[in-house]
Amino acid sequence: MSYPNIKGIRYHYKSVSVDHLDDLQEDFDRLNRIGVLSNHKTYRYYLSNKEFVIPETLPDAKSLIILATSTKMMYANFHLNGKVFNIMIPPPYYDDGLTLEDLDGLVLNVIIKKPGYDIVKARNQLHLKILAVRSGLGRYGRNNICYIDGMGSFFSLHAFYTNYKMEHDSWHDLKMIDQCENCIYCIKNCPTNAIRGEPFVIDAGKCLSLYNEIDGEFPKWMDMNVHNALMGCMKCQYFCPGNREEIKKAGRFEDVSEEETKMLLNGDFNDPLISSLSSKIKMFDPSDGLRFLPRLKRNLEVLIK
Ligand code: SF4
Ligand code: SF4
Repeated sequence: MSYPNIKGIRYHYKSVSVDHLDDLQEDFDRLNRIGVLSNHKTYRYYLSNKEFVIPETLPDAKSLIILATSTKMMYANFHLNGKVFNIMIPPPYYDDGLTLEDLDGLVLNVIIKKPGYDIVKARNQLHLKILAVRSGLGRYGRNNICYIDGMGSFFSLHAFYTNYKMEHDSWHDLKMIDQCENCIYCIKNCPTNAIRGEPFVIDAGKCLSLYNEIDGEFPKWMDMNVHNALMGCMKCQYFCPGNREEIKKAGRFEDVSEEETKMLLNGDFNDPLISSLSSKIKMFDPSDGLRFLPRLKRNLEVLIK
């Protein structure tokens, strides 16, 4: 699938009318009413950040643009005591190099292309995924992950409200990718049985990503051998037929040295090693290192052990 690119990063987008904001919220509210959404407090916190409302800073918003930028699966070698640990770093847990200015410029100058209009960036990844599927930009897999033709599940989502009325109001039924039709690979291989099949919505309270992207200890019920990536979890995506082509395009960060790996594992967070690690794996800003690195330390420990 050929898409245009910005800074060498492919992108694809759709637009929907803000008239669908209530429909989008109803998608969540209905799932909540029938009791299939996890009550895990972190997940509930994510859900509580309702974003399907016209932003106060753009009261005359008319359209919502949902934009996907293709981001590769990445690996990094961590060196430790003469051994090399090859560790996965999936998107969207690293910085792909696109700045907010790049995205603003793309939306205003390439997608909208009409002078005199304003945009406001929306937040909240959970909501962006359902917006992507409703807009027809992507479709769900049984693992509830969104897939886009030509990108698989490897992309970052961004949404922008605009007071320009986009030509297209692209609104679709919720659909699954064709590859799911005769496949239950992810249901069988989810290490925590988070993917239920029926109901379709996964048990988010069991999903590894919910735990390894936030601070704190892993729950007692979780087998430490299930971890497989420095952040997030690739078990339901790596061998998914929906990613068959995209997984071949995986990239590699510069190796993490013995010194940097030991700094991380020993919790001896210090500049300039924080800066050099940040420049290699691009998962955090050095100024945020002291807050972020304890999470990486915990995650790396279980992978290496
Ligand atoms: S592993 Fe199979 S069932 Fe699961 S999302 Fe991929 S194609 Fe669908
Ligand atoms: S990301 Fe991992 S834990 Fe979560 S549903 Fe997929 S396989 Fe299961």
